[in-house]
Amino acid sequence: MTFQGQNVLITGASKGIGAQIAKTLAGYGLKVWINYRSKPELAEALKHDIESSGNKAALIKFDASIEAEFIAGLKVIVESDGVLDYLVNNAGITNDKLALRMSVADFESVLEANLKSCFIGCREALKIMGKQRFGSVVNIASIIGERGNMGQTNYAASKGGMIAMSKSFAYEGAPRNIRFNCVTPGFIRSDMTDELKPEVAENYMKNIPLARFGEAEDVAQAVAFLLSNASAYITGEVLKVNGGLYM
Ligand code: NAP
Repeated sequence: MTFQGQNVLITGASKGIGAQIAKTLAGYGLKVWINYRSKPELAEALKHDIESSGNKAALIKFDASIEAEFIAGLKVIVESDGVLDYLVNNAGITNDKLALRMSVADFESVLEANLKSCFIGCREALKIMGKQRFGSVVNIASIIGERGNMGQTNYAASKGGMIAMSKSFAYEGAPRNIRFNCVTPGFIRSDMTDELKPEVAENYMKNIPLARFGEAEDVAQAVAFLLSNASAYITGEVLKVNGGLYM
């Protein structure tokens, strides 16, 4: 895969899927900006790992759901590199419970972390990339935003919102040569899914035609494709990475 741009910011990249996206994109020759919020030691270790392979990485600390922090972080990146070519809005949380027991605070916490952070990132990318007349953004939504799930009304709303919002950004970005797409992972092995009860995980497995849980690398390669020149004519699209769990 080839890339017209040079650098990429990945939010929530200190661990899990975000960390793998950083490694994979660095391997394709991009300078990766690793955003972290609370675990500097993990972010440092990832940066070291990427640099040990002869690739480029830098750290940027901010909470992606806080507008002023996100904007300040982007300012540092643009002042350093002169550009922001690619953005991956990956930061996300869950706070699962049945809707009957879900408070408005439970609902809002997930909307803030997942949907609001993504909105801020897309809007600011549109401003920066608009001046460059080039850019590509990938938002990490979820299979749950496509089909819903028991105990995840807040998470489903946030991820479904990301999908609809990305399409709206795709309309606004297109005249400026900026693309917005989503990846919707299914069951990917990570800290987030390790929290699930074994019987819940087994139940998912029964319904995955490719008969394995996804790896972070499966998601990272889909992200790389949607950022790269190979997808130059694709915008407003949703790429499912779920082993056939939801078609
Ligand atoms: P994870 O291991 O829990 O990692 C999530 C990362 O997001 C953490 O580094 C976390 O940082 C960061 N983060 C959360 N809120 C943030 C904020 N406000 N600002 C900055 N960073 C923030 O989860 P994961 O499984 O890798 O998930 C990554 C993304 O994929 C999420 O958007 C998730 O919804 C999506 N996804 C995952 C799966 C799956 O099966 N794993 C499936 C579908 C979609 P802290 O450690 O500081 O909180």
